[in-house]
Amino acid sequence: MAPTTCFRCVSCAAAFPIEEVRTGCTACGSLLDVEHDLAAFGRSGDDWRRLFDRRRSALPGLATQPYELSGVWRYREHVLPCLPEEEIVSKPEGNTRLYPGRALGEEIGLSRMFVKHEGENPTLSFKDRGMTVGVSWARHLGIRDVACASTGDTSAALAAYAAEVPGMRGIVLLPDEKITGEQLAQALHYGATTLALSTDFDGCMKVVSELSSAHPLYLLNSKNPVRIEGQKTIGWEAIHDLGWEVPDWFVVPVGNAGNISAIGKGLREWLSLGVIDRKPRLAGIQADAADPFYQSYRTGFTRKITRTAGETAASAIRIGAPVSHPKAEREIKFFDGVVGRVTEAELMAAAALANRHGLAICPNSAVALAGAKKLRDEGIIGKDQLVVVVATAHAIKFSSPAAAFHASGAEGANPPRKVDGTLAAVERALGL
Ligand SMILES: *Cc1c(COP(=O)(O)O)cnc(C)c1O
Ligand SMILES: [Zn+2]
Repeated sequence: MAPTTCFRCVSCAAAFPIEEVRTGCTACGSLLDVEHDLAAFGRSGDDWRRLFDRRRSALPGLATQPYELSGVWRYREHVLPCLPEEEIVSKPEGNTRLYPGRALGEEIGLSRMFVKHEGENPTLSFKDRGMTVGVSWARHLGIRDVACASTGDTSAALAAYAAEVPGMRGIVLLPDEKITGEQLAQALHYGATTLALSTDFDGCMKVVSELSSAHPLYLLNSKNPVRIEGQKTIGWEAIHDLGWEVPDWFVVPVGNAGNISAIGKGLREWLSLGVIDRKPRLAGIQADAADPFYQSYRTGFTRKITRTAGETAASAIRIGAPVSHPKAEREIKFFDGVVGRVTEAELMAAAALANRHGLAICPNSAVALAGAKKLRDEGIIGKDQLVVVVATAHAIKFSSPAAAFHASGAEGANPPRKVDGTLAAVERALGL
């Protein structure tokens, strides 16, 4: 039997039809979950694992549709079963590598650490996993304009997926001069209508929310619960790639807190379906300059703290009022999670270390890696525990913080040297 799907308020449990264009509860104003009655399929955990194994081993050349090659839609019955398959907009996305970072892990005291490199998605961040679902659903609903506020990666993904749908207009609101040049170039190249606002991300978020209330455009921030259904697959794909072994920890950088919420929701669903039989723990990590979720955690979540986010190299998580806080709090509690924070020096050192080991991860990803190191140092993560660090975007989208780090003279910096264009000068520079 096909499952039923609806929106469910995370605070008052009110239900709304999934076909409605909505990102909040009309009864109480809180966030919504997409709720599927997946047990209605009547399949066992074994059945699901066999189905997903079969799809995973299918030969790419035999696929007839891009979505058959997607690491998101491989799990399509659990992602958005109410979406007709022929309406899926896929590049395809997902299928990111799970790097066994052995030497890197050893440097930070972890013997079984893996890095799930979401920077290997089509627009070089995990946001593609959400956007394939959000844009497919927008197309299904017949929506013309899709919009988001962004710290740079959501806008790139929105622009890229909207570009796949004839007649769809992508609209992105960016905080002026607070995203990287590479991210801005992505939105422009993919053809989105791009507005650089003289405010920060939280200011852009406020304006785009007002805009979507006043006009018939579809909001594709992580506040939209349909979008983050795709991001659940990060945790699933990692577990699948580990041969169905559930890690002891997922370590995730936290900005607006949609991603850690999505990963947690997916894991709860697989627990209830019997696809997995034990809980991992979750660690959400923030940068000192943008640490409201960490501060709230430190109050035992008795207070929900917001702040003005400061300057950080981890600009994709420069957010002072995380929209998905209530959902992330729920997942941290359910998964016996912890929230940590790291300094600029720690995160840039971690970025440099990972890159030196050949892993091209960005400063935001490095927040998670530095957090894993800190939790190991504090004895919260055990030396031999199985740890999956989620790297959220590719280093190449963040070249200026990398250049600044290497010019800084900090430990681990590798600055370029200016040399005359002669053999003699090059020999001298190389000590030959
Ligand atoms: C969006 C983003 C994050 C944060 O994800 P949230 O869902 O906002 O917590 C982290 N890293 C990168 C590179 C991102 O683009
Ligand atoms: Zn409600």
